[in-house]
Amino acid sequence: MLTDGHGRQFPYLRLSLTDVCNFRCSYCLPDGYRCDRGDSELTLAEITRLARAFATLGTRKIRLTGGEPTVRRDFTDIARAISASTGIRTLALTTNGYRLAQNAHAWRDAGIDAINISLDSLDAKRFARITGHDRHAEVLASIDTCLDAGYRAVKVNTVLMRGVNDDELERFIDFSKARPVSLRFIELMETSDRRAFFREHHVASTTIRERLLARGWLPCVRLPDAGPAQEFAHPDHTGRIGLIAPYSKDFCTSCNRLRVSSRGELHLCLFGEGGGLSLRELLAGDDQHDALVARIRALLTGKQAAHQLHTGEVGSTRHLAQIGG
Ligand code: SAM
Ligand code: SF4
Repeated sequence: MLTDGHGRQFPYLRLSLTDVCNFRCSYCLPDGYRCDRGDSELTLAEITRLARAFATLGTRKIRLTGGEPTVRRDFTDIARAISASTGIRTLALTTNGYRLAQNAHAWRDAGIDAINISLDSLDAKRFARITGHDRHAEVLASIDTCLDAGYRAVKVNTVLMRGVNDDELERFIDFSKARPVSLRFIELMETSDRRAFFREHHVASTTIRERLLARGWLPCVRLPDAGPAQEFAHPDHTGRIGLIAPYSKDFCTSCNRLRVSSRGELHLCLFGEGGGLSLRELLAGDDQHDALVARIRALLTGKQAAHQLHTGEVGSTRHLAQIGG
């Protein structure tokens, strides 16, 4: 198992398939995606080799993310290749849901086990204001389609923002009561492109936590390859609620995940300085497998104990679509 200098193990990889996104979320890409690089995205063959190397190193779970990963034309082929031939046990997807309703069954058949759908409002007009797209009905419908399609887990990601949607916490809880979905409340993170937005709209996770505890939600024990969320359960609800609290003091202590960008750069931390560490030159052929495994293992020694987000050091990430949120 991959282990860093601080004794943390990494069974979980978040793999960005593209920086491109068709939405314009106000906290992420408010002006939409602008192409500012000439190099190409990893190919299907490169992605398969990468997944195989991480599986050799003990990675059990890969989450496909972006940008919007499903804008790739070969998205289904990528999912099928990772799930069928790399040794990865759990394949998850984070999506804005715009192509999900019509593809949920096909993607399940291609081997995707778990799905996170971003939904920042239960109100159609507000959803359109936040994302720049009038797709609320389709995204809502896709959640029910995923429940029918047999995914092991269906989760809804919501970034709560002051004055934007923080009045919807109870509505989201009621929404999850009526369906077996888990909610993920993600604390808004500061990125270098959206500093003023962060100052205006950040809601501390402690505030969300207090609101959950006051409503009878109880914290659950965390599993080793679980995501970053602290989970809460309630006796009257089938689904759980997760709170992703990057500013909390234990967030980095329990870090179990690495990131690879759509260009094959390893990011040891979402908020690291100096860009990613290139793996691409070792993804050209199957005969480079051992060298690739050795490079990843060696690079891990550089992982810092913690990010410095609480001091306003947001690293070189301009927005989360750049390296996969
Ligand atoms: N486009 C896909 C989506 O939106 O689900 C996948 C990529 S997106 C970067 C992954 C997740 O990061 C989404 O749930 C999104 O809400 C979240 N996110 C993006 N920017 C964020 C920020 N500044 N703070 C907190 N969460 C953010
Ligand atoms: Fe696109 Fe996801 Fe960023 Fe929204 S959060 S702009 S859907 S990458």
